[in-house]
Amino acid sequence: MRVVSVYIEHPVMLLNSPFHYLLQGEDYLARGMRVKVDFNGRPLVGFVDGVEEVEDIDAYQKTLDYQLKEIQEIIDKEPLLNDELYELGLWMSYQTVSPAISCFQAMLPAALKPSSSHKPAARERWVVIDDEELKREFETKEALLKDFMQKCSVYRYTKYRKAGLLHTEDRQKQAESGQLRISQAPYELTEKQQKALDDIETSDRNVVLLHGLTGSGKTEIYMQLAQKVLEEGRQVLILVPEISLTSMMIERFRSRFGDSIAVYHSGLSNTEKYQQHQLVRHNRASLVVGTRSAVFMPFADLGLIVLDEEHDNSYKQDSTPRYHTRDIAIKRAEYHHCKVILGSATPALESYARAIRNVYQLITLDERIFQKLPVSHLVDMNRETRQGNFIISKPLAEAIGKRLENNQQVILLLNRRGYTPIMKCGSCGEVLTCPHCDVTLSYHKDEDKLVCHCCGYTTSADVSCPKCGSRKWRNYGIGTQRLVEETGRLYPKARIVRMDADSTAKKDSHRDILEAFRRHEYDILVGTQMIAKGLDFPDVTLVGVFNADGPLNRMDYRSVEMTFDLIVQASGRSGRKDVEGEVYVQAYDISHYGIRLAVRQNYIAFFNNEMQYRHSGFYPPYSYMIALMFAGKDPQLLEDAAFSAAEHFRLDEKLRTLGPSKLLKRKDEYRYRLVLKSTDKAYMLQQLWQWYDAQKYNRHQVAIQVDVDPCILD
Ligand SMILES: [Zn+2]
Ligand SMILES: [Zn+2]
Repeated sequence: MRVVSVYIEHPVMLLNSPFHYLLQGEDYLARGMRVKVDFNGRPLVGFVDGVEEVEDIDAYQKTLDYQLKEIQEIIDKEPLLNDELYELGLWMSYQTVSPAISCFQAMLPAALKPSSSHKPAARERWVVIDDEELKREFETKEALLKDFMQKCSVYRYTKYRKAGLLHTEDRQKQAESGQLRISQAPYELTEKQQKALDDIETSDRNVVLLHGLTGSGKTEIYMQLAQKVLEEGRQVLILVPEISLTSMMIERFRSRFGDSIAVYHSGLSNTEKYQQHQLVRHNRASLVVGTRSAVFMPFADLGLIVLDEEHDNSYKQDSTPRYHTRDIAIKRAEYHHCKVILGSATPALESYARAIRNVYQLITLDERIFQKLPVSHLVDMNRETRQGNFIISKPLAEAIGKRLENNQQVILLLNRRGYTPIMKCGSCGEVLTCPHCDVTLSYHKDEDKLVCHCCGYTTSADVSCPKCGSRKWRNYGIGTQRLVEETGRLYPKARIVRMDADSTAKKDSHRDILEAFRRHEYDILVGTQMIAKGLDFPDVTLVGVFNADGPLNRMDYRSVEMTFDLIVQASGRSGRKDVEGEVYVQAYDISHYGIRLAVRQNYIAFFNNEMQYRHSGFYPPYSYMIALMFAGKDPQLLEDAAFSAAEHFRLDEKLRTLGPSKLLKRKDEYRYRLVLKSTDKAYMLQQLWQWYDAQKYNRHQVAIQVDVDPCILD
């Protein structure tokens, strides 16, 4: 008889070991297939880890502390994950300290997740011809029912079927992909680009950091590298951080390489995702363009991975398993013996530090091709505020006016949606906060509602003060809605469009907004950071960045890096071949190095400054960090859990243990965080796993979230 080890999602406990089940009969079952099992009377879907032949079941049973039960059903006909991906899942589980089952789930499209047994919706009916003579008549042994019926009458079809000459089958509908057609580049590379390309190709490093200014022609280098790989018949993966960037990338690659492209991002429906996944799995797409989860596509023969805007936080998954796409890409490239290109104008400090230590190959592109660098101005908002210019400073206002007169476009970046972030009582000063989170409610004028940006709680703005009953409110701060209003007041003729999480809630709306702006149907685009990334608009000659030093107030060791990135990325959107671009950066703390160096676009100086700060605080890349979060509804239980973990880790002198600190309440959950630091990541992981495996908390009471190499500590 066979004994099967199965990973399941334990309903209550935090466990990471497989459970064993019996398998009768001769059915095919292998690692990476899904099965239905019974767990304490609960039907669950599990993922097979291994199958072994056992002669003496009774002896085997004695080694377990639970009763062996039979597998109830085998769901798949073949493994969903091949050996490479299965091993990758186990590696990711160890590296991110998360259950293996959560990793397998993250690697598969929803329709195939180990916790689900439902089939994707789109199916189609096929006619399979069993009779040899009939096969010759139809020249094929199978056809889609609708195609078959075009060649055959209903009467004949029914007759054949009754006679057993053919039968019909329900199959999952497959997505269509087109042909790979490689055409030559429409122009020659510049000398700098050519040298970069040569250096990448001759490098003996598998990972290349391509540090290039915005507009320095990184994408063309990706395409030329891709061309060689595609000509060899291998596959290419292009990763971008945001959905809004996929369509631009797809357009460029499609025009050069034809339609053999699969697309994968969170904006697709479950069925669409499944179809794209199948395209790659059956090697019917040569190129994949996608966001984070595309890194798990089932490639047969991968020849190149590009991670564009590699510094972007969207590459880090913010729920279990908290993996970084860059780590997964590098791991997969090792398996496939191919190169990974990390591209950015503002590389992550960790990446740049590795590049200058020659762990990665460093390639620099320091010349813009089609445009000059924009002229940047830093505006002191303390002075402007004293002169009554609270929102748009005088120099920026004048510059906008000039650009509009010349029929050029303007981008205004403010990383805060809504109308105003704070509502304060006019008589007693009470601030309205979310009943579920320790966060102030933002006023949204469009809907006349108060909204919590943390949990989405929404309530009428027509309220009286809970403390004194007054109905007089004062609004503080500015959000994108208010900026649109103010811009409209100053430039009544300008056509203004807003892009933020509120205006892009509908599917495809972000693409519609960007395309309309590109067609110059609008003069001014006002938006949050989603407009700062990698987008390319030829008529934009002015960019304004509002509240640029706002992120510096966050209690996060990476806040300066994020501030710097945002300003440089936003500045890159300005300027074109024949008209010099301009950038205005409005800030209060204008002497901060993160702001000053961003305005001068001086990455190297910023890197050196920031590395000193990281060194003095023993922050990454000088140390490795793991954050442990304890979350739940019972504050006492959490406090106990967090403090006992802290005591445990403090005993270890090789680790530096910080906290626990109590964080703001979120979605009715109390939260405590503990941070571990060490120069030895392997040791830290080992210690953490030992501790983790011993935890017996009910995860509905104490949820423990582990974040290895956290990007954001908010
Ligand atoms: Zn009041
Ligand atoms: Zn809330």
